[in-house]
Amino acid sequence: MRKSHDLEQRRLAEKILKARAKFVLIQLPEGLKTYGPELAYSVENLGALAIVSADPCYGGCDLAISEAERLGADLLVHYGHTKMLEQKAFPTLYIEAKSRRPVKYAVTRALRLLQKWRRIGLITTAQHIQSLDEIRSLLVEKGKVVLIGDSGKLEHAGQVLGCDYSNALAISEDVECFLFVGGGRFHALGVSLATAKPTVVADPYEKKAFSMLEEVRVLLKKRWASIYEARKAEQIGVLIGLKTGQKRLDLAFRMKRMLENAKKRVTLFALREITPSTLMQFPTIHAFVNTACPRLSLDNAESFRKPLLTPNETLVALGKMSWEQLCQKGWFEN
Ligand code: SF4
Repeated sequence: MRKSHDLEQRRLAEKILKARAKFVLIQLPEGLKTYGPELAYSVENLGALAIVSADPCYGGCDLAISEAERLGADLLVHYGHTKMLEQKAFPTLYIEAKSRRPVKYAVTRALRLLQKWRRIGLITTAQHIQSLDEIRSLLVEKGKVVLIGDSGKLEHAGQVLGCDYSNALAISEDVECFLFVGGGRFHALGVSLATAKPTVVADPYEKKAFSMLEEVRVLLKKRWASIYEARKAEQIGVLIGLKTGQKRLDLAFRMKRMLENAKKRVTLFALREITPSTLMQFPTIHAFVNTACPRLSLDNAESFRKPLLTPNETLVALGKMSWEQLCQKGWFEN
């Protein structure tokens, strides 16, 4: 059966042979882990040993370099994300795993929801970048003016990451709304929060289109409630992510100083995975400030018993940023 994603096994083989790799660590995000054994067999057919990382992997921020080093691998193959970290220390091959799903049906359905807007910002993930021209043509045929942003920070124009919406922000002033093409609500929610513009999703996997308006409204209410609760906290934990691209020590130290100046007692915590059960080990802490992946605060907040604020939400709690400033493009730091 034809796979739903292009795993680029030929490029993988070329790299292994060219690098004369003898021991390869393969890292896949959750949606692609199922291909792990097959990829390992194909690597072993080339005469190299393969190990598949079974740990969670949510983004290009989470390169398994230290794991590869500890295992003694000589090549890390990272699937599903584009290069996010400038690192030359360990040989790494990125394979984006482009989607083979046709996008036309979902985009056609989205047109109905885009009726009242003419100027559309087009945005997607690395998996659907190859479809941007086709999507643009479909929209232009219907009389839309289509803009695709390029901040120069990401691998592709029009691409978003869960924590980087700089390509959307680059055109935000010039469009009335955004069309996000891709699976699920995660990135579309981010586009809407980052730009404060209406966002419509065309989901090629579910073959449907929907607006993010209501979801964003509900989320903002919840975030405000968390900020309000955190204001009352006397003891605060500042979380430092240990994943390669999530470690922001300077920011964590800055947050600590700022909170201490506001007469809070602060403890720094370092961790790889921020989960409700990990944070529950510290019942005397009333609220947490998350300097690692911002999406944990935004997407998963209900599962945490205590407020889990992003750095900018913390500024609002301390009265150093207004709620309006936060809502006007303050959710992500790009
Ligand atoms: S920090 Fe979070 S949102 Fe950003 S790439 Fe990593 S997992 Fe994704």
